[in-house]
Amino acid sequence: MSNTGLTIQGIKAIPVLAPLIRPITTAHASIPAAPLILIDVICDEGVVGRSYIFGYTPVSLRPLVEIITNLGETLHGKKVVPFKLKQEMDNTFRLLGRQGLLGMAMAGLDMAFWDALGKAANMPVARLLGGTEDPIPCYDSHGVFNAKTSVNELEQSLQLGFKAVKFKIGGDKLQADIEAVKAIREIIGTDILLMIDYNQSLDVPEAVRRIRHLSQYDLHWVEEPVPAEDFAGHAAIRSASEVAIQTGENWWFPEDAARAISAKASDFAMLDIMKIGGVTGWTQAAAIAHSASLPVSSHIFIEASTHVMAVTPGAHLLEYLDVASAILADPLEIEGGTLVPRGPGLGIKWNASAVEKYTV
Ligand SMILES: [Mg+2]
Repeated sequence: MSNTGLTIQGIKAIPVLAPLIRPITTAHASIPAAPLILIDVICDEGVVGRSYIFGYTPVSLRPLVEIITNLGETLHGKKVVPFKLKQEMDNTFRLLGRQGLLGMAMAGLDMAFWDALGKAANMPVARLLGGTEDPIPCYDSHGVFNAKTSVNELEQSLQLGFKAVKFKIGGDKLQADIEAVKAIREIIGTDILLMIDYNQSLDVPEAVRRIRHLSQYDLHWVEEPVPAEDFAGHAAIRSASEVAIQTGENWWFPEDAARAISAKASDFAMLDIMKIGGVTGWTQAAAIAHSASLPVSSHIFIEASTHVMAVTPGAHLLEYLDVASAILADPLEIEGGTLVPRGPGLGIKWNASAVEKYTV
C-alpha cells in the first residue's frame, strides 16, 4: 500500500479519565486521573491511525471532542499527508488562531495521521522519519517530594535504571525547597542527575534567590521558574543563575519555540509533542532548537515522543511520565532507564474494556 494512498473516512474522539499509578502533583495542582482524548482516524484502506492528547483538566474534554469531531468532518475524503494537512489547517484557522484547544486537536490529528502512515508501511514512525529503534535515555518524573512516599518511589527509579530524576517543587517557603532537594540528593547520591520543576510558580527575584540557595545540590536544570510565556523573565533568571534553565513544554507550535529561543529564554528545549504541533510540528521545532545548539527533551506523551526523539539532533532526555497505560493494550516498559520506539506507527493500541470503563 502506498503511503500517499490513505484516505480519511472518519474521525472518532473518545474522552476518558485514565487513572494514574502515580498522581501528578505540582506546586499548585493535583491530577489524580489523566483527562485524555483518544483519537481514531479511520481510513478507507482499512488502516486506523491512533493517538491521544492530554487535556490537563476534565473541563476541556467535551469541547475537545467537539472540536476534533467537527475538524474531522472537514477532512473527510482527504489524503493522509500530514505536512499538507497542517498547512491547510494553519490557513483555515489563521483568523481564529491555533493556540489552545484547537491547536491540541490539530496536533492530536497530526499524530494519528503519522500513526496511520506507519501502520500502512508496517514500520515504526521513527523509521518512517529516517531514524531507527535505538533506546532513548529517560528521566523519571516525580511529583512534589513527600517524605513518606518519595523514598520508595525514588528507590524504584534507581532499580529501573534511571540515571536522572525530576521533582516538582515550589511551596511557600525556600526552606521547604532546600529540605526536599537535600533529602533527594542524599537518597540518589552524586551520580544521578537531578532536575527540579517550579511549574511557573515564582516571580523573577524569588526565582533568582531560590536557585542561588539550591545550586549547591548540583541541579541539572531548573524548569519553568516563572510563567511560561514570560520569555524575558526566564532570560533574566538565566543570566543571574549558575544552574541551567529548562523551559518549552508550553511553547505553542514551532513559531513559539523560535520566539523563546531568540529571546534566550532557555538553556535547553523541552518540547511537548501536543503543544508543538504533533510529529510535524516537533520535527520543525527540533531543527530550530538544534540550530541554536539547545539539547531537546520531551514532555509526557512517552509513546509518540520515543519516535520523534529518535530523529531529534541533540536529543537529551525523554520525560518518563506515563499518563495513558491504564487505557493501552500494550504499554511501554522502562528498561535500563530507557524506552525504545515501538511500531507499527506510534505503537498505540487501545485496551477496549479499559477504554469503556474510563470513558466519561
Ligand atoms: Mg514541567
